[in-house]
Amino acid sequence: MDEFELIRRYFDRANTRADVVVGIGDDGAVVVPTPAMQQVSVIDTMVEGVHFPQHFNPADVGYRAVAVNLSDIAAMGATPRWMTLALSMPVADAEWLALFAEGLHTAAAEFDVALIGGDTTRAPVTVVTVQVSGEVRHGTALLRSGAKAGDTIYVTGTLGDSAAGLQGLEAGRPVKELLSRYARPSARVNYGRSLIGHASAAIDISDGLYGDLSKLLAASGVGAELDLDALPISRSLAEHFDAADCRSFALTGGDDYELCFTAPGRLPDPGILTVTAIGKVTEARDIVCTENGRPVPFSDSGYAHFKSAGA
Ligand code: ADP
Ligand code: MG
Repeated sequence: MDEFELIRRYFDRANTRADVVVGIGDDGAVVVPTPAMQQVSVIDTMVEGVHFPQHFNPADVGYRAVAVNLSDIAAMGATPRWMTLALSMPVADAEWLALFAEGLHTAAAEFDVALIGGDTTRAPVTVVTVQVSGEVRHGTALLRSGAKAGDTIYVTGTLGDSAAGLQGLEAGRPVKELLSRYARPSARVNYGRSLIGHASAAIDISDGLYGDLSKLLAASGVGAELDLDALPISRSLAEHFDAADCRSFALTGGDDYELCFTAPGRLPDPGILTVTAIGKVTEARDIVCTENGRPVPFSDSGYAHFKSAGA
């Protein structure tokens, strides 16, 4: 199977978007931007053995590669439209490719994102790079930098499941409900869009709540009081780990792909998605964690062993 046959067989699907004038097959793709919209571009690379385990289910590798990018798009309040794929592999394994493409196209179809091009190369390890372009109405993109003292801090969904799921897999004791949060993250695209006009700042949680909230606060020049008792923990995480481990996974686990955002007032209806208030933005530029209303020390190193490989 040569490169062109591979692209035709696995990646060149019928185009469903009217704004794609030229998709896969020419030297470049041609798309029609929507008037009065600004473009948001995100990209993410996943290296086998670093950002996902070796021999991981190829369909999940494909799904995740798209979903983690959609999560960045969601954090900007944007609507995803088009994507490109750079794929490097040691060998063109037909079975792997078929599964990978199925996962990739499944994630893209959920938000009507068109695959409009890419690059295919041979390399010693499998490396998957997906780039997504989205659109947002002029001047309305959600940024990390708008949080103000007094705003409430929120997170969507539950935290820690994904990191716990990956750790279970690596320890040879996979827990299905937790691992599925790692394998098939749900990008909060629709809620991210609805936060425009409500949220003062937003970030998606890829490296753990504590670290990503720190980035948002630093960008905004503020600090926070974080209520550790309020962290949303799923039933399955609580069933498999004690309270201290649940908290560690929730604070620093990573790969959650939930949204963390700040808002001064009312929130849009999240529908079936849960949204939890976890603290307040403060003027002092640090994070004070509280338990039972009292400040408790937070030691990042104490939680570091839960961090997944890679960055
Ligand atoms: P060029 O040599 O001009 O860069 P290629 O021969 O590499 O073009 O690619 C041919 C077409 O296939 C281009 O439209 C490119 O965007 C697309 N393409 C290549 N690899 C992939 C891939 N993995 N997924 C989707 N489209 C791809
Ligand atoms: Mg060319």
